[in-house]
Amino acid sequence: MKITNKYNLPEALVNAMLKDDYTKGASEYSVTGLLQPPKVALLREQYDDQIEIDVSDKMFTFLGTALHKVLEATVMPDNCTFEERLHTKVDGTSISGAIDVQERSAFGTTIWDYKVTSVWSVINEKSEWVEQLNMYKWLVETVKGERVVGLKICAFLRDWSKNGNGTNYPEASIVTVDIPMWTATETEAFIMERLNAHKKAKMARDFGEELPPCSNAERWMSETTFAVKREGRKTAIRVLTDIDEAKEMAIKENGYVETRLGEPRRCAGNYCQVSQWCSQYKGEANESA
Ligand code: SF4
Repeated sequence: MKITNKYNLPEALVNAMLKDDYTKGASEYSVTGLLQPPKVALLREQYDDQIEIDVSDKMFTFLGTALHKVLEATVMPDNCTFEERLHTKVDGTSISGAIDVQERSAFGTTIWDYKVTSVWSVINEKSEWVEQLNMYKWLVETVKGERVVGLKICAFLRDWSKNGNGTNYPEASIVTVDIPMWTATETEAFIMERLNAHKKAKMARDFGEELPPCSNAERWMSETTFAVKREGRKTAIRVLTDIDEAKEMAIKENGYVETRLGEPRRCAGNYCQVSQWCSQYKGEANESA
């Protein structure tokens, strides 16, 4: 990966930001790797030496790493284990997961994961958090034989504001979020599904075939909406998700409906880092041009 420093940030800071201690251990897949879309994972592997990232774009990753470093250097209470990586095999494939904190009590173990994130992430349930923490739960239960009694995210909200309001707006800049727990059977089925998706994509690559496409969810596809508008008015009267409802309102308001197509935000913002080599995204971009 090529790292640029477009904004001339100080060298010492850049060096600190580029220090990367991440490892998936000796496993073939890590929990976070399994959660990645297979196409993204393989394209990143293929174009690693050509991917270009500016150091300023690594700010949020850096803040997360810095937080973990501070916690790592802190004396943990006796009933807590910090940053333990657990390994196991599923269907002959080794997988591992590094768990931020395991807190033991008389009732069992509570798993904590620290995240530097946005307010938006705690207002709406994030399916990736549910999937990630349930895989950790499954690892603790199967590898260590411990009973897991709770899954929690400790979220550091980088864009929290004292003046923020609205439904579910968090009360403080650091909050905890309870994550719903799955049964072991549910998690095993999920892990198998992810493993199969990654293996299928690797086979396609090895046979020189087209990689399986990213799904709408993996592409962070926003919803298509229908704006009810009227000539002479700049803003929409209302923006609806149902076309029939929008048409009905347009008739009543003597206006018209403007369709705002959903956008694959991960592709369009190149958050996957490989959009320039992705035939799926480039094909669509050419079609709409
Ligand atoms: S550009 Fe979109 S479809 Fe292509 S790999 Fe990235 S996320 Fe997936």
